[in-house]
Amino acid sequence: MTDVTVDGGEDTATLLRRSEEARTRGEYREGRRIAEHVVVRATAEGDDCALAEALRLVCNQAVRLGDLEDAARAGAEAFVVADRVGDVPGQVEALNLLAFSYLQLALFDEALDAIERSTARVVTLVDPDLRSATFNRAGTIRSAMGDFDDAGELFERATRELSGQDVSSETRFCLLTNTADLVLNRAYSGGLVPAEDLRRGVERSCESLVLAEEVGNPYRQALTLLNRGSLTTYLDDPVPATRDLEASRELSRAHGYRSLELGVLEAYAMDALRRKDFAAAAPLFDEVARTADELNDATVLVRAQELLARCHEELGDFRGALEAYRRFHELETRQRTETAEVRARLLTQTVELQQLRSHAETLDRQAHEDTLTGLRNRRSFDAALPALLAGAGDGDRVCVCLLDVDHFKVVNDTFGHGVGDEVLRRLGALLREDVRQQDLLARIGGEEFALVCVLRGSASSGGLVDGVRRRLDRVRRKVEQADWGQTADGLHVTVSLGAVVAVRPDPGSGTELLRQADQLLYAAKAAGRNRVVARPLSRC
Ligand code: GH3
Ligand code: MG
Ligand code: MG
Repeated sequence: MTDVTVDGGEDTATLLRRSEEARTRGEYREGRRIAEHVVVRATAEGDDCALAEALRLVCNQAVRLGDLEDAARAGAEAFVVADRVGDVPGQVEALNLLAFSYLQLALFDEALDAIERSTARVVTLVDPDLRSATFNRAGTIRSAMGDFDDAGELFERATRELSGQDVSSETRFCLLTNTADLVLNRAYSGGLVPAEDLRRGVERSCESLVLAEEVGNPYRQALTLLNRGSLTTYLDDPVPATRDLEASRELSRAHGYRSLELGVLEAYAMDALRRKDFAAAAPLFDEVARTADELNDATVLVRAQELLARCHEELGDFRGALEAYRRFHELETRQRTETAEVRARLLTQTVELQQLRSHAETLDRQAHEDTLTGLRNRRSFDAALPALLAGAGDGDRVCVCLLDVDHFKVVNDTFGHGVGDEVLRRLGALLREDVRQQDLLARIGGEEFALVCVLRGSASSGGLVDGVRRRLDRVRRKVEQADWGQTADGLHVTVSLGAVVAVRPDPGSGTELLRQADQLLYAAKAAGRNRVVARPLSRC
């Protein structure tokens, strides 16, 4: 049934834009709903580009709404779809989102694995925004795992990528927020953070607040206020700290950003603990723990329970401390079990996706590959030829060569079909050794192969085809001299080659080039086989 509030007959591109706009405004519930609608439609229509984008939008917004497993599933699928269509930037974006979802699920190994795969891909791209966003995300993961030095380096790298670039507001916001967040993570982990770093963190939060207000995204505003307020508590400046934290709390309540509300509570609790006001800290950590439990945020819950135990201990309430420690250990075990369960669930789904993908890859390969030799097949050859011809520049020569096994019928008749197959396989491997990456080599018929290469620059003084003829004759000799006795006693194999050479041929002349090459191959056969006949293209 069509959801009229989502689909008022709009096209897919419009719906994707609406989802993106909702995301920018921080209206994640609405944005996700629209994106999910596009997922259904794009799946039905087989529109992989729209599907990948919609899945990324689902992942991005679900993670902010705290629906972490849904987010991870959408992120993993977005990656598979982007991979299927060979969209590398799409793969990077999907992996970055997936890494973020895994991080929130406390699946640290998976998060690291995803971000490493993303980093390996992004370094092959030139897009500074995407490169920066990826290093930035890698930094967030390291920071959350307590590798603060690595995180700092990654954030610096993310910033360097953008020097002198025109950067989007969102990218700048993320950079500023994450560097401020790193300072906060260091402080929360109990490390001593120099006041100078804290002040720089506050400055960065001030800048990111301006950006958040400019785009009118309340989530980003609430997040920045939370960061700035939390950092300010460490500077012993309670009035502005409380002002920021309260403003963040109010925005979060109004928009349902419960994880940020939890962040505010935790900031107050951490502040009381830092001031050694254990009597104030204990009930705050208790509240943090209860809220974290409600929100299924196991990481915060475990941390709060441990600090609550410490507060009771400091207050001399050993019974309370014992109880809190017991609960802490219980939760830690439960978290480990739950993490393992989530991991298992997501892994099953990932395996299924991998199988789907490898099946699609196999089908794709089968359509383009000759199964006996692993070379391109006729179909793939025909598809690739025009582009190769079009790639020839001024003065470049193109050689189109057909190679056919001599008296192959006799080989089959004498040694059997199996030996015949082995000859073709070995021949494929032998020819492959002699071609360059940019050449086109295919098995285009039973015992017939085609080789097309572009020779850069003008011909030597020896004429248009001399060099080509010499090169092809080396191939011919190599076949003749190969140790065919290895395959069958008394077996000898020779080949005949017909080649036509043209200076920068017309990209549409493939058929004519092949026709003339075939005539020359026939001439080589007629002249006694085991030879090369090469000529310039005759323009008639
Ligand atoms: P010529 O020197 O004139 O090319 O003689 P030929 O015997 O090589 O040519 P012909 O076209 O008469 O025979 C080709 C043979 O190749 C016939 C066919 O059975 C065999 N053949 C085609 N495809 C395969 C294959 O995949 N495996 C094997 N073993 N034989 C094949
Ligand atoms: Mg033959
Ligand atoms: Mg033949």
